[in-house]
Amino acid sequence: MAADSKKRILTGVRPTGALHLGHYVGALHNWLELQDQYDCYFLIADYQALGDHFHEIDLIRDSVLQVTLDWLAVGLDPEKSAFVVQSYVPEHAELTMLLSFITPLGMLERNPTLKAEIGELPVERRTVGFFNYPMSQVADILLPRAHLVPVGDDQAPHIEMTREIARRFNRMFGEVFPEPETLIGRVPRLSGTDGQGKMSKSKGNVILLSDDEATVNKKVRGMFTDPNRVRADIPGRVEGNPVFEYHDAFNPDTAQVDDFKERYRKGTVGDVEVKVALAKALNDHLEPIRERRARYEQQMDLVEEAIMAGVRKGREIAEETMTMVRDAMRISTYTKSWN
Ligand code: ATP
Ligand code: MG
Repeated sequence: MAADSKKRILTGVRPTGALHLGHYVGALHNWLELQDQYDCYFLIADYQALGDHFHEIDLIRDSVLQVTLDWLAVGLDPEKSAFVVQSYVPEHAELTMLLSFITPLGMLERNPTLKAEIGELPVERRTVGFFNYPMSQVADILLPRAHLVPVGDDQAPHIEMTREIARRFNRMFGEVFPEPETLIGRVPRLSGTDGQGKMSKSKGNVILLSDDEATVNKKVRGMFTDPNRVRADIPGRVEGNPVFEYHDAFNPDTAQVDDFKERYRKGTVGDVEVKVALAKALNDHLEPIRERRARYEQQMDLVEEAIMAGVRKGREIAEETMTMVRDAMRISTYTKSWN
């Protein structure tokens, strides 16, 4: 299939820290499989990160490189896919603004992910920009006129909103945008090591793809498990227990996992044994990723090249789409009609 006849993917992360296991099972493993079939745009959403990290620009700058290293480390290929830094393609901001004029306020007010996230933010960090971030995500997806958006399930409301805005725009101004489909990862929402909801960079409950073996061992040892099980001979709960959730997600030895679950429920296996096996499975999974990351860390010029090549490709499609959008909306086209 010729490159330009492939369908397009847009997805991304906020550069608010290095990537973790939740990103892997919720997003990256899908991206890896899709990069041959689709024309992929992987976005490092640094404008969006400003929403609640406007006071931490250095963290955002550093995280742009950390995220790129993590992507290269898991095997995303900048020759196949475009790694785009959002602020290098300011059309993202222009499209966000234009689409905000056709977006009813209630769409944002009702968005369940946004509501929950704002509720968790201290008042001094609740900015208009943060409230508007799903809107900017709509623009991110529509700018390359994406057909498919592979994400974790916390993002599903934003993609539903994108579909509505695409329909609304097309109805009002003529057909410009495809209605993108959502593709949820093999684990829609991996829990954090603290068992208190989603693993998330902002919550400090993460195992990073770049954590070394000793750090993984330590984090797994300290993981939240069934709190009622103060001794190994007390029957324990497997459901909702993040230790077993991670075993299911990362341990390829399913017979071992089934055996642990059975014995855990009966109270015939200790937490330590289950956790040691988990740490081993995680380290086996992470080792090749760490090795590739270490190689790229020695070749930062390749990392920068990957970003700049992606930005060039991102700019091309952004310019193309914005010409279509301005023409359709009859914005910045006055001189033509005056002639
Ligand atoms: P932050 O805390 O700064 O919001 P995050 O850890 O939530 O960071 P994002 O950059 O917001 O990461 O998310 C990037 C992508 O990874 C999204 O598609 C999101 O759905 C997915 N993702 C993030 N965390 C998880 C998780 N714990 N389980 C499954 N998918 C996840
Ligand atoms: Mg997030």
